[in-house]
Amino acid sequence: MVDFTMRVIAKPRDDSVKVVSRLLKGGGYDNLHCGACGRVIGAGVDSNRLKDFVFKCPYCGLYVVMPT
Ligand SMILES: [Zn+2]
Repeated sequence: MVDFTMRVIAKPRDDSVKVVSRLLKGGGYDNLHCGACGRVIGAGVDSNRLKDFVFKCPYCGLYVVMPT
């Protein structure tokens, strides 16, 4: 189990970017925390499968990505 703090980015302008705006749960062993508000936006997920996605935090509305 690894806890990741997501990196806050600007709102993506590219329509081809895959934006996830719901809470994720299951599939792995990692927890994702919003880099702005600190809330958990992914619980027990497989972070390796989420590197290509942009997340819109359901709590604070900011855009975050996996840290690199
Ligand atoms: Zn947030």
